[in-house]
Amino acid sequence: MARAHEAGALHSPGSSATAIVPSWLTPPADVNELLPQLWSQTVERGDAGGLRVGGVDVAELAATYGTPLYVVDELDFRSRAVAWRDAFADAFADLCGGADVYYASKAFTATGVTRWIAQDGLHLDTSSAGELELGLRGGVLPGRIALHGNNKSRGEIAAALAAGVGRIVLDSLQEVDLVADVAAELGVVAPVMLRITVGVEAHTHSYIATAHEDQKFGLSLTSGQAMATVARVLARPELHLLGLHSHIGSQIFDMGGFEVSARRLLGLHRTIEREHGVELAEVDLGGGYGIAYTSEHQPLPPAEIAGRLAEIVARECLVQGIAVPRVSVEPGRAIAGPAGFTLYEVGVTKDVALDGGATRRYVSVDGGMSDNIRTALYDADYSATVASRASQAPGVLSRVVGKHCESGDVVVKDEFLPGDTGAGDLLAVPGTGAYCRSMASNYNQLPRPAVVSVRDGSAKVLVRRETPTDLLALDAG
Ligand code: PLP
Repeated sequence: MARAHEAGALHSPGSSATAIVPSWLTPPADVNELLPQLWSQTVERGDAGGLRVGGVDVAELAATYGTPLYVVDELDFRSRAVAWRDAFADAFADLCGGADVYYASKAFTATGVTRWIAQDGLHLDTSSAGELELGLRGGVLPGRIALHGNNKSRGEIAAALAAGVGRIVLDSLQEVDLVADVAAELGVVAPVMLRITVGVEAHTHSYIATAHEDQKFGLSLTSGQAMATVARVLARPELHLLGLHSHIGSQIFDMGGFEVSARRLLGLHRTIEREHGVELAEVDLGGGYGIAYTSEHQPLPPAEIAGRLAEIVARECLVQGIAVPRVSVEPGRAIAGPAGFTLYEVGVTKDVALDGGATRRYVSVDGGMSDNIRTALYDADYSATVASRASQAPGVLSRVVGKHCESGDVVVKDEFLPGDTGAGDLLAVPGTGAYCRSMASNYNQLPRPAVVSVRDGSAKVLVRRETPTDLLALDAG
């Protein structure tokens, strides 16, 4: 097999042209290579060179379901979910009898997914009535469901309490009376946690950092807001305070932020227990564990994350002199992200000469920012590979772009794609199982793609493709 060491049109490393290539991206020795950390576990190249997943050729998936198409590798999704569940159960077994893993369904949800969550014994984090409904439809026990949100409606709170959710995470002082009043109307006691902004600047994009003070979520630790809210909760007999919650952000690799967060949260936990003479049974350390979108990312395995969090919690509880509360975490991306990829069909390509003599190839696909907004919104990096065949052509510095009316409609900013990539090729973008379908839009009146799950040689639809008729049905005429 011919090996393509040159960077295609960008073939003079060390020249000023290399500045346009991110430092982590190197021309591949083999453009057909699949880096294991980027792809779900059953993805492979078949004998003819095209990608297969769950024993099914992606060409067959594209022919049956159309493109763009979100593809979920069921085995991969479920084995990640189970790995998180077991890692936390094991690491915290001696400390507090285990820990609960709430799959953050905002990453991606559908009844088919919440059914896996229920069958595999995880808990579920929801942030709207819609996510809650999908959790219940999939058979997740209500007591294993959490409801989040910084501005929950009365209707959402009522739906959660009527269903009997295990926890509502309060995000503001105003919400205390709202939840207590709804609980009183329904004649129930609402189990609540308080979301605390612990003041950690997570090393991630500012839009997905959520525990510094100057943003919308949670109760400030330093301003007295948290303690005032605790007092209000304890004054309402319709509420049962389970404990504290913190989520510092998303796509985080450095455990340092989680450590500081746990320390501050458990410090507040102790203060509340001492000042109010109550016992807080639980603490939730949130989600945010990073995944590999490109060769630059090296995520930690769940067992290592769980082990390190257990050490942190054990140490902090000892220092604070408190009993170890039941711990929970809320990973979303780390379960759903690597289990999915998006399949596109390539259309137009064009080469642009750049300063320094380099060339960038624009490879247009049949979707874009409507099915993956993360690149435009967070400046996220992704990878891509030609999925319908293997190629012998050298890699060419390429940018995968969508079909929307925005120059910022970029799916993959930088990738070395085979120089012969062209119209009709299928292109696969890994790591799109989280925050792509769930954040998809109908921009430019594009119907949102279907989501199919694949396992043991067969595929099933989790979410069907929207049709132009679906979109027109919303138009009031
Ligand atoms: N928990 C809360 C409260 C969140 O807001 C989020 C994401 O926004 C998550 C969990 C899941 O984060 P991730 O998917 O990065 O693990």
